[in-house]
Amino acid sequence: MLESREIHTDGWQKIVHFNDKEAGLNAIISVHDATLGPACGGCRIFPYESFEAGLDDVKNLSRGMTYKNAIGGIPFGGGKAIIFADAKKEKTTELLKAFGAAVDSLKGLYYTAEDSGVTEADMETIRSVTDYAAGIGANGIGGNPSPFTARGVWRGVQAAARYKLGADTLKGVRVSILGVGAVGMELARLIHEEGGELVVADVNQESVKMAAERFGASIVSPDEAIAADVDIFAPCALGGSINEASIDRLKAKVIAGAANNQLKTPLMDAGLHHRGVLYAPDYVINAAGVISVGLEILNRWSEAEMIKRIDKIDNTLTAIFERSEKEDRPTGAVADQLAMEIIERGRQAA
Ligand code: NAD
Repeated sequence: MLESREIHTDGWQKIVHFNDKEAGLNAIISVHDATLGPACGGCRIFPYESFEAGLDDVKNLSRGMTYKNAIGGIPFGGGKAIIFADAKKEKTTELLKAFGAAVDSLKGLYYTAEDSGVTEADMETIRSVTDYAAGIGANGIGGNPSPFTARGVWRGVQAAARYKLGADTLKGVRVSILGVGAVGMELARLIHEEGGELVVADVNQESVKMAAERFGASIVSPDEAIAADVDIFAPCALGGSINEASIDRLKAKVIAGAANNQLKTPLMDAGLHHRGVLYAPDYVINAAGVISVGLEILNRWSEAEMIKRIDKIDNTLTAIFERSEKEDRPTGAVADQLAMEIIERGRQAA
């Protein structure tokens, strides 16, 4: 039986802890802000070491979604879900359906989609019990957002390389990718096709071997990936790779990758700015996936619309880089400011 308990938290609109013992579900759905529309964001399956670690993650992720959806220009608020489980061993149809029931119980306040550990087929299972699930490619549109996210990150890598390195193309530009999963592998392909040189790292040895075989990438350990002698570091695994221990080991002049919450603490934003490292704010550069999901929910998805919006990620990032330089403020702070301006305009128009 599905049980729920609300966790009241200042600054978040609604956080609910769900349990279904029979189905093995232990999950949290966090709605950060629904000013611009229903909250929308992916569901991540991960074996967090503690309840608090999961709660912290889902809170940060859902806040990131509020800003991401605002900057991505779609009429949705920010939300996220996590399921405490090992996706390889513990993911069952019963668990996914119980999660669908949890989403459904919020009556449209939150739309779920894919994230780490959740596949397109899983979303179909979730969708069988709730209408509030996207990213399933119904009617042949939308579907798995990862290739679009990778394309948007690639556009962001290009924008950052142009701005910081004066590089008109990625030919000869060296990029270290941490995490060659759904997004990181496709990003590696796009960079390789443009003539970039790759260094890759992943806890999954099969993935790095594949990247080496297909794209001539050099393999390093995850710990070495951040300190690799490259122009650009692209974090595409989990969050927190830029932290107090790693920031001084960076050799790259640019950080541009897909992972959510790349900065372990907000202080890292200023730290990178002072060190002259150009940071492409995570939720701006990785917004293509959620734009796809948003358009799908709105029934306005088309490839042409997607490409138009993905191209805007380049323009939005360039505007952030310019404002950051002009105002001598970290890029993350500038992006937050832009997002808050959009949400405030939405609040006033409501
Ligand atoms: P994924 O699970 O397919 O890939 C993640 C990869 O990182 C896997 O290959 C995994 O083995 C590896 N990894 C995990 N922990 C690691 C560690 N400690 N060190 C090195 N490698 C590690 O996930 P994905 O869909 O490619 O997403 C990657 C990141 O991008 C996530 O942070 C996700 O939240 C974010 N993101 C994804 C999308 C999307 O559309 N898929 C959209 C926005 C943001």
